[in-house]
Amino acid sequence: MKLLKFGGTSVGSPESIRQVAEIVKDYKRKNLEFAMVNSAMGGITNKIIDAAHRASNSDETYKEIFADIETRHIATIKELIIIESQSRVIAQTKILLNELEDLLYGVSLIKELSLRTLDLILSFGERMASYVISEFLNQEGVPAEFLDARKLILTDKTFGNAKVDFEETNYNIVEHFKNTDKLQVITGFVASTERGATTTLGRGGSDYTAAIFGAALNAESVEIWTDVDGVMTTDPRMVREAFSLPTMSYEEAMEMSHFGAKVIYPPTIQPLCSKNIPIYIKNTFNPTFEGTRISRDSEQREYLIKGISTIKDVALINLQGSGLIGVTGVSSRLFGALAKSDVNVILITQASSEHSISFAINPSDSEKAREALQKEFNEEIKARKIDPIQIEVNLSVLAIIGENMRHTPGISAKFFNALGKNGINVVAMAQGSSELNLSVVVPSKDLSKALNSVHDAFFLSNHKTVNLFVVGVGLIGGTLIDQIKKQADVLREKQLLNINVIGIARSTKMLFNESGINLETWEQDLDERGEAVDLDAFVMKMKVLNLSNSIFVDNTSSAEVIKYYMSILDASINITTPNKLASSGSYIQYDELKKLAFNHNVKYLYETNVGAGLPVLTTLSDLKNSGDEIISIEGVLSGTLSFIFNTYDGSVPFSQVVKDAKEKGFTEPDPRDDLNGMDVARKILILAREAGNVLELQDVEIDPILPQNCFDAPSIEEFFVELEKADGQMADKCQSAAQDGKVLRFIASFEDGKAKVSLQAVDMSNPFYSLSGSDNMISFRTSRYDERPLVIKGPGAGAEVTAAGVFAEIISISNKLA
Ligand code: ADP
Ligand code: ASP
Ligand code: MG
Repeated sequence: MKLLKFGGTSVGSPESIRQVAEIVKDYKRKNLEFAMVNSAMGGITNKIIDAAHRASNSDETYKEIFADIETRHIATIKELIIIESQSRVIAQTKILLNELEDLLYGVSLIKELSLRTLDLILSFGERMASYVISEFLNQEGVPAEFLDARKLILTDKTFGNAKVDFEETNYNIVEHFKNTDKLQVITGFVASTERGATTTLGRGGSDYTAAIFGAALNAESVEIWTDVDGVMTTDPRMVREAFSLPTMSYEEAMEMSHFGAKVIYPPTIQPLCSKNIPIYIKNTFNPTFEGTRISRDSEQREYLIKGISTIKDVALINLQGSGLIGVTGVSSRLFGALAKSDVNVILITQASSEHSISFAINPSDSEKAREALQKEFNEEIKARKIDPIQIEVNLSVLAIIGENMRHTPGISAKFFNALGKNGINVVAMAQGSSELNLSVVVPSKDLSKALNSVHDAFFLSNHKTVNLFVVGVGLIGGTLIDQIKKQADVLREKQLLNINVIGIARSTKMLFNESGINLETWEQDLDERGEAVDLDAFVMKMKVLNLSNSIFVDNTSSAEVIKYYMSILDASINITTPNKLASSGSYIQYDELKKLAFNHNVKYLYETNVGAGLPVLTTLSDLKNSGDEIISIEGVLSGTLSFIFNTYDGSVPFSQVVKDAKEKGFTEPDPRDDLNGMDVARKILILAREAGNVLELQDVEIDPILPQNCFDAPSIEEFFVELEKADGQMADKCQSAAQDGKVLRFIASFEDGKAKVSLQAVDMSNPFYSLSGSDNMISFRTSRYDERPLVIKGPGAGAEVTAAGVFAEIISISNKLA
């Protein structure tokens, strides 16, 4: 004999019920002996509860909900039952519906809803569903019989969560099954007291009904048929990467369900475990899949833990005060008082100082618990030995579970590392004495992020996912997305790294997709489906999504965007950017951003601020970290100015060289933005700061290359007129340099605390002499690299190399993630 239980999700619609019938027929064909237990149609129990509460509050809208329940059942019958039998089945169901309606009406008249009445009202969900299914199975050629479990399962009077009298119940079940030859279609969830009052076994209790029948009949197995592929590493609705577990032990299943895995109702396990009856969790919608076998043995696989469960909503009560220290019996009084008031404790922690005890409970029990404790510890509270009872809300529990935990060190380190790296604050933690679970209490707003990062850490330890929020998709940003798209498969396969672009913003529009924007069609999607851009909303959305391993990528050069950096780092989100404005803004801001990143354990990277993709800042930081001392820094730091002076040898007028450069797109739209030296000044400022100096932009001395008239010219055309006037002056400089065997280079330098930007004539011995094209070159003279400085040279501008630099930072951030 097997017991098959079909949950609300399996009997929620006519199509699902047909699917259930197929499974049943298949078992019949195989000549298997079995009985089945059904829940109410999915969602009906919640609707009945809602209707009953509204009725008790004299809220007439309960009638609409009732109408909804009625329509759903009648429609299901019409869909499933052939015309000839329809009126009979509808009439039978109508009798139940009328009774339900009368009860709701009664509740609305007396404006009171006891748990006892609610249980009776709730029973209609299971009774109607099982009746309709039994009729449908008969029609499909499976001789079936509706069985109201209230006739057999006897309980005490704890309405809403009744305790089973196993002796009576087992006897009744065994007796009943002696005289049946038809398939029994049993109502889940419901039972009755000795005197015939209807009770229920707790929410999700149909699983338990199946266990009660299974144990009584010494079944060979109990199969819980639901809508997922068995018990998974965690709730697949919360973690996309969750996967099915082939086996688990009763204890593991117990812990998983106790800590919130709804896939099986916790009390289900005990009666089956004590008789060593295996439980299979199977998927109605994927019946050939093996599912999960829960039994005494759990195959241990390569993973450190079995699964992760969560309880979304808990309250944490703290009992603290000097009166707790060293006093025996406090805990027993505490938990005695809670038990008397029927408050279920989910998790307990005690600080080793014994100064406080914290425990998590269902928030709906908060007031009951507060009253119970206030009463129990009244004297101590009055005498101020115990502080007034504090209750914290908006908290959730996350528990990792598995038998491997007993023997394996380092699991908690991994657990807390994953949480810490994502800026999740652990409010309390507890390890079950069985060492089968380790649980933490975290703010509810962080639950999804915590769950995903812990799941990644334990189950995809080799695999990592980073979530990007990209602002600015112009030349650099667009190229970056292109590079990510091209490299994505390689990274996934070779580096086991998934890069998801979750948000994209450009000057007009922004687009989000929590599961990752399609990088093939992002431009079109942004055009067609993007919302009007709003930076506030963009940043807010990023925080609210609260995804693990988030990186904000600022590809703009905008002062507006950097205003958000503080709050972004504060939300434990990493930043990478080629935007120089933050690191070359005020020193205080520069310093605070770095500290903020450090304190939140996230990265704030801006390597591309200097020398684009060249490893300039990382080299500098490596030098410093390895104890070297920076004596001086020199560099040609602007690709544009490098090109102009590498090209200019006096043979063509200087103004012509600038014009050519502009035409080739090597300069800013207004070439003065390059020629004024500001961009270079910002870069040497950043270098000086990274070398450990406190400096402001105005401390950088800029020797102007051109006469002031050039800069004052009101338009670009007039600027070129002025520039031509300066051609002679520039030619003189070039010639006198040439006479000494020198060339002109626009060099930024930092030495003895002074940063300078100037046009210099350098001879052949100088490394900048041989610079060509638009290359950048930076030379560090340090105590170790003294005679011959450390030189970095290469293309220091352009979308491809800058985007590649940002991309490299994204990968470097992901390498450091949990
Ligand atoms: P039924 O109506 O069949 O009783 P439930 O909704 O009670 O179904 O339970 C199935 C649901 O449990 C799944 O849809 C899934 O979202 C949730 N769930 C939570 N944790 C887990 C887990 N670890 N493995 C599988 N499902 C889980
Ligand atoms: N229908 C009941 C509930 O929703 C019992 C169950 O589904 O197991 O809680
Ligand atoms: Mg269930």
